[in-house]
Amino acid sequence: MVVTVPAGQVAAGQLPQICPRHGEQPIEMKKLRLISKPPSWAPLLIILGGIVYVIVVTAMRKTVQAPAWPWCEQCKAKRSRNLGIGLGVLALGLLLLVIGAAIGSDSGAMLLLAGFFVALAGLIVALRANPQVITSAFVSRDGQFVEIAQADQRFAQALQHAARPAVPQQPYPQQPYPQSQYPQQQARY
Ligand SMILES: [Zn+2]
Repeated sequence: MVVTVPAGQVAAGQLPQICPRHGEQPIEMKKLRLISKPPSWAPLLIILGGIVYVIVVTAMRKTVQAPAWPWCEQCKAKRSRNLGIGLGVLALGLLLLVIGAAIGSDSGAMLLLAGFFVALAGLIVALRANPQVITSAFVSRDGQFVEIAQADQRFAQALQHAARPAVPQQPYPQQPYPQSQYPQQQARY
């Protein structure tokens, strides 16, 4: 489910103590830098050159600094898994490139080609270890909200609950009479 949180609330670190993505108890409150996705037409700018794309996308990007984002065991596990697999496959790809270059000839060229794609796949998996990818949270284009694309039901409920006004506290601890006298007074009036 998609859950939208005001950017100010995220920036103030006022989120429920529950992982937005997995609904679990957080093991830490992580400092994250959340950004918006580039506009859907942005890739067309690559025709004008990579630098134009980078300049326009950077200029349009909205950023929200989250000082305390709930980060659970599953988030941590997913990050280390993606990083471990990604870097492992990347290393394998680079090894194939080195061997391919050393062999030369046709089979070497085949290895170079394979190495390139293996390294690329490894890089993509490693990039998915980025905390923002794991949270599935992106800043809206206008910068007003943080949208969690794959939010957990429990987080959504905790968020709703926190938004309700607090129940006024009972004045019980401040009562001026000792406990034993209280029932008698109640009986008298
Ligand atoms: Zn999590």
